[in-house]
Amino acid sequence: MGLLSEGSPLSWEETKRRSEYVRKHGIIQFINLYHKLRDRQGDILKWGDEVEYMIVKFDDGNKTARLSLRAAEILEVFHNEHDSLPEKDEARCLWHPEYAAYMLEATPGHPYGGLLAHFNVVEANMRYRREQAAKLMHPGERLMTLTSFPRIGCPAFTEPVHPTKPTSGATRSLFFPDEAIFPGHPRFKTLTRNIRQRRGEKVAINLPIFKDVKTPSPFVEDYLLYGDDGEARRAALPDHVYLDAMGFGMGCCCLQLTFQACNINEARTLYDQLAPLCPILLALTAASPFHRGLITDVDCRWNVISGAVDCRTRQERGLLPLGPNERRIPKSRYDSISSYISPQGEKYNDVPLVLDEDAYKQLSEAGIDPLLARHIAHLFIRDTVSLFEERLNQDDSKDSDHFENIQSTNWQTMRFKPPPPNSSIGWRVEFRPCEVQITDFENAAVVCFVVLLTRVILSYQLDLIIPISKVDDNMQKAQKRNAIQSEKFWFRKDITTSISPPEATCHCPVFPVDASSKLPSNCDVYAQMTINEIINGKEGEFPGLIPLLTSYLSGMDVDADTHCTIQQYLKLIQRRASGELQTTAQWLRKYVTTHPDYRKDSVISEKINYDLLKTIDSIQNGIIPCPDLLGAPLISKTQDSVPQTISKAECSAE
Ligand code: ADP
Ligand code: MG
Ligand code: MG
Ligand code: MG
Repeated sequence: MGLLSEGSPLSWEETKRRSEYVRKHGIIQFINLYHKLRDRQGDILKWGDEVEYMIVKFDDGNKTARLSLRAAEILEVFHNEHDSLPEKDEARCLWHPEYAAYMLEATPGHPYGGLLAHFNVVEANMRYRREQAAKLMHPGERLMTLTSFPRIGCPAFTEPVHPTKPTSGATRSLFFPDEAIFPGHPRFKTLTRNIRQRRGEKVAINLPIFKDVKTPSPFVEDYLLYGDDGEARRAALPDHVYLDAMGFGMGCCCLQLTFQACNINEARTLYDQLAPLCPILLALTAASPFHRGLITDVDCRWNVISGAVDCRTRQERGLLPLGPNERRIPKSRYDSISSYISPQGEKYNDVPLVLDEDAYKQLSEAGIDPLLARHIAHLFIRDTVSLFEERLNQDDSKDSDHFENIQSTNWQTMRFKPPPPNSSIGWRVEFRPCEVQITDFENAAVVCFVVLLTRVILSYQLDLIIPISKVDDNMQKAQKRNAIQSEKFWFRKDITTSISPPEATCHCPVFPVDASSKLPSNCDVYAQMTINEIINGKEGEFPGLIPLLTSYLSGMDVDADTHCTIQQYLKLIQRRASGELQTTAQWLRKYVTTHPDYRKDSVISEKINYDLLKTIDSIQNGIIPCPDLLGAPLISKTQDSVPQTISKAECSAE
């Protein structure tokens, strides 16, 4: 199973001393992998989702909802059950540890394949995971897919309650105790400590607060009450929600997808083509407006998590003059990608890319082309922040741990994954921006939408690439409150290429087919569009991603069940993009601000939190309908136990 390699973590000083060693061997390992696997051909589409969960403990007597720190205990049972399976291949899902002691991650037991019919099992598999987990929950405990826990970092947000220790331990947070970090593996605490130590101070995240009529203005908190020694007072901005721990970001849940490509070139194409979609999918899945019991003015977790693992020193962040052998680094190691790696993307690489020059030289001399060499040399500007004594000495011709060490702590919107050594797995890309949704139905819809997009991009040879700087802009826009309705995003005006088939121009006769040959300058290539225009199209100007998918699907042989499933999912995305349905973030805001206890002061009390999470749990279970989020409560006429699922009869009637 996906357990992390066990071992004894080195201290930060020892880790730092070996950072060049890890870099050098990591690069050699990548070069060896590359030479062995660059010509690997003929892998088929395989893909799988990763869903992250929180364990919430309800106390119905006291009307509280807290985060239960039992993930390690539960994971052990799952792993024992898995180990006792007569055939390991029988597992329908796999459970993995995550950063927080209240988090679990689950993936399907096996990746899905290239059949459209696989879309019929995605949601059922997600439901199965909840059923499996439900058996292990204590009374009052529930597995929930919340991107951010509204009262994370408030006093007593965990079960059991642990005091924070601002002067000792890994985090030193005023709000987030070390006990809330997953205890089953030393990696997570080590990462926390090393990131803080490398940075030279605690991480500091400032999210603009949502100013309601009774929110103090300016909004300034007294951190002395939490044991601040002055660091928080200096780091916190007025009118912002201040967060000071890795757990505020890594303790959020998300939804990720991995795709296997048929060869390295297809993987490079997919990596690039999906990158501009990251901010769009982030805005569509926005689900995290609340942190530390306060309503913020942002809808997504991305900047929180980016700041939560930002290990750059003050010099690297540009706050102090550079010393010898130091350099400015524009982004956190958790951020949007900084370069494209396919030939189509090359001319849109318009942000300066900081490289590890030695790594670049090593890669180039090994015959790796500049685009890929730059990508890897950029990842390798980072120091290792977690090193285990037992894993230091490796056989670079067989192992890839040092490469993976740096690769897996570059947490970017997209990840280009080489095949692991000696495995049947091919070149893959991972799509990482999405926030997790409340229901399995929504999560399955997002998953199927993105998987279908990859198919249509490859089949129609679409080109969605815009300059990286514009993708960066879009990432910031996507997180703003209500971005889905109020923001316009940079998007490529003409996404067909000279080799796209005519169907790619569906319902849009004025759309020129031969576009790629006439690119006069970058600025003619993209325009500002709303999410609705990008997803649903704009008459005469842009075909829309859903109409393209529909056109693609109309040329395929799809059985009635699968057709119906796909239609429901696409409908959800369509309606959300058009504003007919709310995003999770919009819905959450409305729930809290219309709660009878809400005092218009941006505060989410224990009681509001309890009621909100109880409601979410009932929606997730299909006990209460939620038309604002999921559409009309269509009661299924089939055996399906989840009422929001449209029945087959209703589907075909549409
Ligand atoms: P990570 O945490 O490193 O991103 P996980 O193992 O948690 O990786 O998840 C990887 C995802 O990739 C899972 O959904 C899994 O089903 C899927 N997967 C496994 N093998 C393949 C493959 N050969 N091609 C594509 N996806 C795969
Ligand atoms: Mg995973
Ligand atoms: Mg994860
Ligand atoms: Mg992942």
